[in-house]
Amino acid sequence: APFLKIENLQVSIEGKEILKDFSLEIKGGEIHAIMGPNGTGKSTLASAIMGHPKYEITGGSIHMNGEDVLEMEVDERAQAGLFLAMQYPSEISGITNADFLRSAINAQREEGDEISLMKFIRKLDEKMEVLDMDSEFSQRYLNEGFSGGEKKRNEILQLLMLEPKIAILDEIDSGLDIDALKIVSKGVNAMRSPEFGSLIITHYQRLLNYITPDKVHVMMQGRIVKSGGAELAERLEAEGYDWIKDELGIED
Ligand code: ADP
Ligand code: MG
Ligand code: MG
Repeated sequence: APFLKIENLQVSIEGKEILKDFSLEIKGGEIHAIMGPNGTGKSTLASAIMGHPKYEITGGSIHMNGEDVLEMEVDERAQAGLFLAMQYPSEISGITNADFLRSAINAQREEGDEISLMKFIRKLDEKMEVLDMDSEFSQRYLNEGFSGGEKKRNEILQLLMLEPKIAILDEIDSGLDIDALKIVSKGVNAMRSPEFGSLIITHYQRLLNYITPDKVHVMMQGRIVKSGGAELAERLEAEGYDWIKDELGIED
């Protein structure tokens, strides 16, 4: 089963330290949620795990099944089974969604072991049905003119097609209406298995009404300051973050 281990990670952007001594372990079968106020470094964590060049790792380590993730190139991280849904997915012109998905799947596979067109189409149809997506969607150019909700749904389609071992989902719920939120959640829940672990980053608790996390972590000022079960998210929804700040003597 997959195992992502982050130890004492420190990350800076343009010389400013954002993540301080950040540690977290995610095992296959587990869904973790990270919640926290804006600007605490949640997206920085996601970008650092995926190897965004702007984020400088100044300390600590990330291992996936014992392998040093920080030593891997970005594409090697994907090949190792790491998946990141971006908070702001970019538009890529001239490539259809289906083409993109097929080359992303093949990039994960050995040369000579590419997925056949038949198998690919069958899988694509099956996953699009889970997400209640119109079949014309696969022939549209990637993210071009997609609504916010369509982009999110498409990210979850990528998740279902690529079947990563560990997925980091950064604010997949932002800007979604309740129906889209349910569909996105259904996609994530469909991935649940002992061979899959996930970190869901969210500002709002409502996503966690549909995806029940095994563990909830509160992040403030670049580190995890509190961990608990699903009930912690409910308390945050009801009471906000102030009680945690009071508990810890954090001012801002
Ligand atoms: P969150 O996702 O929790 O809202 P972020 O990780 O986006 O927080 O941001 C954490 C801090 O890092 C903020 O102070 C933000 O201004 C800063 N920051 C994030 N990304 C960049 C960047 N690309 N360049 C400069 N500063 C950044
Ligand atoms: Mg933010
Ligand atoms: Mg963010």
